[in-house]
Amino acid sequence: MEPIRIAIVGVGKIARDQHMPAIEGSPSFSLAATVSPHHKGPEGIPHHSSLEELLQDGPAVDAVALCTPPQVRYDLAVEALKRGVHVFLEKPPGATLSEVDALRDRADKVGVTLFASWHSRFAAGVAPARAWLSDRKVQKVSIAWREDVRVWHPGQDWIWEPGGLGVFDPGINALSILTHILPRPVFMQSAVLSIPENRAAPIAADIHFSDTGGAPIHMDLDWRQTGPQSWDIVVETDEGTLKLSQGGAVLTLPSGTEHNEDLEYPGLYSRFANLIRGGRSDVDIDPFRLVADAFLRGERRIVEPFHD
Ligand code: NAP
Repeated sequence: MEPIRIAIVGVGKIARDQHMPAIEGSPSFSLAATVSPHHKGPEGIPHHSSLEELLQDGPAVDAVALCTPPQVRYDLAVEALKRGVHVFLEKPPGATLSEVDALRDRADKVGVTLFASWHSRFAAGVAPARAWLSDRKVQKVSIAWREDVRVWHPGQDWIWEPGGLGVFDPGINALSILTHILPRPVFMQSAVLSIPENRAAPIAADIHFSDTGGAPIHMDLDWRQTGPQSWDIVVETDEGTLKLSQGGAVLTLPSGTEHNEDLEYPGLYSRFANLIRGGRSDVDIDPFRLVADAFLRGERRIVEPFHD
């Protein structure tokens, strides 16, 4: 079978760190082009400074991976879908819930694949965690997602702008795992968002959720963490405690700890190829809806200014 010709749109950190190696390692895809206003892709790969230019004048592509900030993703996705090009959306899938719904409808109408990716769901411990929890009673969940924004997002102004999500940019990864592994739906009850006085998005958030069985779920997100970083989810059940650490890579069950190879982005590309070959889309907005609820109902507290 011929590889799917894909263009990467937005040659930033995640495109370089993960998308390019995953595409290079995949038999299902070949990198046909890159698009980015300022940064170029690998030597020898055709490059364009806008998607419009690529789709008009560039080499033919079957698919695009949109690795831009979320605020510009909707317009880019529409441009691709209009031309029958399959679309891989980095997380979060957009800047608003309604635009992602509109994209899903458009993709369905034109019969093209739209994939709203959640890379953390492909972390090694997540599938076995979901299987283990499927027939257990969840009693309590604690999430600690504490990292140093200066280390992980230096100079990324878009992340602090409306639609950039602030600390929910990493926090939504925890929610993508949570909504995937818990057997029951989750909803938000209360939240406190700490917003630096010179920024539009939160630097920290303290949130209480519940599942529909009444199990309390607490999430502590903080970008001011220095020293050890934590990306942990602990689920207490009627048959003992499950812990996912290192962003879902390491799973600890009452029977012991499993360390498996990190295959998040290879897993995402394999899923995207299967969706394209099967003529299907995958657009789950549950994690994004919980973030929207936190912005909708959370109490805002203004905190000290943040400077990079
Ligand atoms: P980034 O380093 O700021 O890169 C974003 C890139 O998008 C920039 O390099 C910019 O290109 C490009 N861009 C902006 N507007 C564009 C447009 N209209 N057309 C084409 N390209 C455009 O951000 P990032 O960290 O890679 O994050 C991008 C997305 O991936 C975010 O949604 C983020 O949540 C997600 N993500 C990031 C990570 C991570 O570890 N960083 C992990 C997983 C997912 P120029 O520089 O050429 O102007």
